[in-house]
Amino acid sequence: MTSFLDTPIEFLKGVGPQRGELLRTELGVAVFGDLLQRFPFRYVDRSRFHAVSELRGEQDGVQLRGRVSQVRTVGEKQARRLTARLTDATGTIELVWFKGIRWLQPILKEGAEFIVFGKVTDFRGRLNMAHPELEAAEQWEQGLDSSLQPVYSTTEKATARGLNSRGIQKLVEALLLRPDLDVPETLDEAIVAQLGGISRAEALRQAHAPRDQHLLDTARHRLKFEELFFIQLGLLKQKVLMARSVKGAVFGTVGDLFNTFYTKHIPFEPTGAQKRVVKEIRKDMGSGRQMNRLVQGDVGSGKTLVALLSMLIALDNGYQCALMAPTEILAQQHFNTLTRMLEGMPLTVRLLTGGAKSAERKALLTALRTGHIHILIGTHALLEDRVVFQRLGLAVIDEQHRFGVAQRARLWAKAELPPHVLVMTATPIPRTLAMTLYGDLDVSIIDELPPGRKPVRTVHRYDSSRSAVFGFMEQELRKGRQVYVVYPLIEESVKGDPATNPAKDLKDLTDGYESLSRRFPLPKYAIGMVHGRMEPADKDFEMARFKKGETDILVSTTVIEVGVDVPNASVMVIESAERFGLSQLHQLRGRVGRGADQSYCILMTGDKLGNDARTRIGTMVRTNDGFAISEVDLRLRGPGDLMGTQQSGIPELHIADLVQDAAIMQTARAMAQRVLDEDPDLHSPQHARLATAFAERTKGQPLWGRIS
Ligand code: ADP
Ligand code: MG
Repeated sequence: MTSFLDTPIEFLKGVGPQRGELLRTELGVAVFGDLLQRFPFRYVDRSRFHAVSELRGEQDGVQLRGRVSQVRTVGEKQARRLTARLTDATGTIELVWFKGIRWLQPILKEGAEFIVFGKVTDFRGRLNMAHPELEAAEQWEQGLDSSLQPVYSTTEKATARGLNSRGIQKLVEALLLRPDLDVPETLDEAIVAQLGGISRAEALRQAHAPRDQHLLDTARHRLKFEELFFIQLGLLKQKVLMARSVKGAVFGTVGDLFNTFYTKHIPFEPTGAQKRVVKEIRKDMGSGRQMNRLVQGDVGSGKTLVALLSMLIALDNGYQCALMAPTEILAQQHFNTLTRMLEGMPLTVRLLTGGAKSAERKALLTALRTGHIHILIGTHALLEDRVVFQRLGLAVIDEQHRFGVAQRARLWAKAELPPHVLVMTATPIPRTLAMTLYGDLDVSIIDELPPGRKPVRTVHRYDSSRSAVFGFMEQELRKGRQVYVVYPLIEESVKGDPATNPAKDLKDLTDGYESLSRRFPLPKYAIGMVHGRMEPADKDFEMARFKKGETDILVSTTVIEVGVDVPNASVMVIESAERFGLSQLHQLRGRVGRGADQSYCILMTGDKLGNDARTRIGTMVRTNDGFAISEVDLRLRGPGDLMGTQQSGIPELHIADLVQDAAIMQTARAMAQRVLDEDPDLHSPQHARLATAFAERTKGQPLWGRIS
């Protein structure tokens, strides 16, 4: 038997097959439950009306009640619009529509009374309201006995066929008024009590047709909590399941390799944070269950050493290791670093690149399969099926945000016992997002930089003061330092985005290179250039020259963004900084400040900056704290964009908001944890409702844990 909430929407009064189709395709509503999950995005206080005479200039959220007159269409073709005047007891304002003229015109009867809601603007001294929400006063008065009117999002097509906000509201009301309304409770009593004692059914009713502000707040809070609670329950349950069912190789000993390295080869004393994180990793790998750990550490915090020490533990226990990086440059750099650090140790480290000759590759793959390679480094080429390990024990994924979830899943399949997985990211993720995306991973944070680092000084300069910036660069170059000058992307330009133009970007880059060459001429100065359109070998060659100090200035695109390490570089100049995202700017800045010298980051922009760009630049100048920056980023861009569309993995939320509801998320997670601590399988009678609701929600969903 279908439950009430699973009843197809056609069975609702006022919805036939055609509307049903419209609801499904336009608004994503297939069953009763879907309709109840489409929450209003705003509520209008019906009791409060503005008077035309009190309006001054621009003002949003204005509600007026008045009579309509002089309904006209004016203009031709594109400029065609519908205008009308609305007059209340105090004055008159103009209403204007550019769309939907055909169906609005017959509705707007002259002399009839209307309620309008929208944004008032001042157009050449005359007040007007474009595309107001509109309803006949008569109809309005028949609404529910609530002073708070819900406003629903809809689409143009749905609106044209009667499903404007008011139309949707009527359907929801019809549903809520059905005598057979049956909305089961999902949370157990104790939790409901803590949330103000409001049942799920009542919360839904209040969210759609609030009696007053207080009830509305309680209802929304409960619904948000519930939504986040079940997400957290899912993630944490996953963890319990994995701990139980997925065995991991036990790395019980810390042996010769680790100890020899630690006493004889390690180039510096690890920081307290590095030691702590290695200890956490060691504990995981010795536990008998598979490790899934995320290491967050700001740029320059020394994640590579942590990875190496972890790998040595795996090697001590007779296993192989993989280290996966997002770009060839980074893979190469890791290879160089590890080879250098492990010099004199009986270990074979190899690099697998896309460009390897086939004979070479074949030999390498054979050596890997037969266990003659101890550490294999590479890009996602490591994921290919032909890459077979003899005994893979630990996979380290560097700069995780570039890798898709699905890609991680393929690593999993490379060993009989799933390898321990260590994910390292330099892009600090806001806590709420981390809790949602990596709720099933354990998290370690390297919250300390190696000693002697001075925080990078960041300034904002306009293009007009370029010569002063050049002067400053010269000063630093004279001290023997090196300088990065970064231009916006070329190959990374988003297709179809008019803000990015690969051809122009390339020209900007080469123009920049030329003007720098004139200002800093040979033989005194050498300038290198790298960008994504170059052959990998040429790129590597240029990078290597810069690293060795053979070039003084490196002109580049963001190919150097992630992880590149040249301690002698002390100045990072970012051209058109307004075009970069915050996390990118932060990553780029992290390329300097790696040595003992004072380093600088100079953000160059044009004179005109949009609000968001101004916030981004201001944030960079104000703070070096990656977590603070990521919070701002989340607020500016929203969670989906922040994580990148390809792999966001962010669950669809109906009412909660990852930015605003961080505190609720925190409580929800703690509560979910408490429930699972007591009753990991949700078998106890007191959790019966939770268990049912949870099963309902996870029906048909893949298990995330398989792929993290
Ligand atoms: P990231 O966390 O950005 O990957 P790296 O591992 O590249 O950072 O380290 C940044 C720089 O700091 C490197 O030059 C590295 O050699 C150095 N470093 C790492 N750990 C320490 C330490 N404990 N003491 C001194 N220098 C360190
Ligand atoms: Mg790194």
